[in-house]
Amino acid sequence: MRILFVDDDHSNGAAVGSLLAEYGHEVLRADSLELAAELMKESGAPDFVVFGMKRLPAELAKLLHVSASEDRRRRIQATQELPVLSDDQVTTVGPEAEKMRDFRNMFLVVQTKYVMGLTAKLADLRLAIDQARTTGGELEAVKRARMHAHKMNGTAGSLGYRQISEPMKVIETTYDAMMADELDEPGQKERAWAEIELQFDLAKQAGVVLLKELEKLPGPDGKSSVYYKAPMAKVLVVDEDERFLDVVEHLGRQRMVEVVRATSVAEALERACLVSLDAALLNVPERKADESFKLARELRGLPGYESLPLAFISASSHLQDRVEAVHAGASLYLDKPLESQALESAVQYLVAIRQGGRPRVLIIDDDPDFCELLSVTLRNEGLLIRTVNDPARVLDVMQEFPPELMLLDVNMPNISGFDVCKMVRGIPRWQDLPIIFLTAQTGVQARVSAFQAGADDYLPKPVINEELLARVKVRLDRSRLMKERSDKDTITGLLLRRAFAEQLNAMLADAQRNQLIFTICLLDVDHFKHVNDTYGHLAGDQVLTMLGQLLMRRFRVDDLRGRWGGEEFILAFRRESKQTMQRAVARFLDEFKQLSFQSDSGQEFRCSFSGGLASYPADGQSIFDLIKAADERLYYAKESGRSRVVADL
Ligand code: GH3
Ligand code: MG
Ligand code: MG
Repeated sequence: MRILFVDDDHSNGAAVGSLLAEYGHEVLRADSLELAAELMKESGAPDFVVFGMKRLPAELAKLLHVSASEDRRRRIQATQELPVLSDDQVTTVGPEAEKMRDFRNMFLVVQTKYVMGLTAKLADLRLAIDQARTTGGELEAVKRARMHAHKMNGTAGSLGYRQISEPMKVIETTYDAMMADELDEPGQKERAWAEIELQFDLAKQAGVVLLKELEKLPGPDGKSSVYYKAPMAKVLVVDEDERFLDVVEHLGRQRMVEVVRATSVAEALERACLVSLDAALLNVPERKADESFKLARELRGLPGYESLPLAFISASSHLQDRVEAVHAGASLYLDKPLESQALESAVQYLVAIRQGGRPRVLIIDDDPDFCELLSVTLRNEGLLIRTVNDPARVLDVMQEFPPELMLLDVNMPNISGFDVCKMVRGIPRWQDLPIIFLTAQTGVQARVSAFQAGADDYLPKPVINEELLARVKVRLDRSRLMKERSDKDTITGLLLRRAFAEQLNAMLADAQRNQLIFTICLLDVDHFKHVNDTYGHLAGDQVLTMLGQLLMRRFRVDDLRGRWGGEEFILAFRRESKQTMQRAVARFLDEFKQLSFQSDSGQEFRCSFSGGLASYPADGQSIFDLIKAADERLYYAKESGRSRVVADL
């Protein structure tokens, strides 16, 4: 779509504009009505106008109408009006519009917070300037003052406050000149001190104006923007009972969870397509339990949702319902009536599962405001962010929050980003970690030093959101692809033996620590040699691919699925006994047997598999013992006629 974005605030225009552009829209940006009209004249009317200015959208509509081409004007008349939106009532549906609104809101929060803290920051700078002056330009004192100005230059600039960043830049470079002893002509130093004073006053005045504007500004929800918090997660809740949905929605609001409501299966599927969900909570009515399980399977069948975490709410404790729930992929099975505490921990649990799959990015910068600014931009893209202001803590934090990418400030007190980078690269585990430097120094020398220190990339401060997102995404995608390639089997899409073993070990450790049970399952396709011989190797591969895909969409997203080798698969189910799993896997076998495959020559055929189960701790304390026990049962399943799942000998 061609979108005209009109906003007199450049930073908002840039932020939202880049977001829209990333979704493949062609974005025209204008900061005034006049420019908007100009653009229309040049390149024709857009499909859609987003309006971010306080002036009346109708005014713009008129202007656009006047400047539109004859042909377009006819179309406008035909449709009565050009779709014009004011940004505080963006009413389009779909994940893109929601994402845009979230982002805009969050950006506003960070801006607001920054302006609110500006007085304190300027006071700190004032103190540092005075100290530098009274010590007669003592090196340490000048360095401190310069550091304050440097930080404010970077952050204010990135937030779009040039009225602050520009004076700060001048102060910073003036101190640089002082330290370089370039000011030795008579009177030069005095003029430099005076320049700093002047620039400081400029920034201070700009700060006062910003604060005044802030007080006038309403937040996105009508309240002051300071109190706006973006939702932590979007959870689909499906129940026929509107009152129950009201209760859940109310609870959600308190917990920063956005509840996406649906009262029917059709509505649930429609909402899932429009909104990007983090989890789903499905009520299982006693009379219509099957319908809920079917909905669960359909949700997981939607593109992008094969690993959507699910929870079921049910008053029933029938084993058959539990088996169905495990098969359909319920990570949690909640009792009815639902307590608010239980609901909250359930949502947290589901979101945590989902986030397990999100890329983790570590930001290291001594300026907390700057960290927050980057965090907002990146979190909005679904990344998990941790920030570190004290570079000395980097290695500790990396232990508990192993990052997939690092953004590293160069200029920090005590230790430079270059040194942090070298230190991290010295550890084998982090040799391939993508590291991007952030720095206000953009000269050739700085670039060379960055690469010498082992960085992968280099971003100039003030950071432009579109550039940041592009670089971070490219790096993350590439390193994920590499890991995917080495961890996953290409035919089935499941984990390879080594990667599976790694995760199974983690599951065992977790079970030992928390005294939990789990169950593993070995699967082997029946008479697969015969399948290859009769229908061809390609048809054989197709069977393996379909089995892999079906395994991805069934059972809980936090369960493990791997290709053990050849036509053998291995699964691991958290917190379930082999008695429940025997029935759930048998249910899966029934489903698999219904699939029909085709040989190269068009012959149709079906397949089956055999399975053996073993549970921790009942059947063994180690992975080795568990696999041995499962393998014996698999052998028994084959011996006793195949196409069955055995849990006990
Ligand atoms: P059983 O029911 O006892 O398991 O009999 P089976 O024929 O399935 O078992 P066997 O171990 O004798 O044969 C397995 C066959 O699987 C042999 C091998 O060629 C085939 N195979 C292994 N990996 C692949 C693969 O990636 N693609 C295809 N098409 N075939 C494979
Ligand atoms: Mg076999
Ligand atoms: Mg085999």
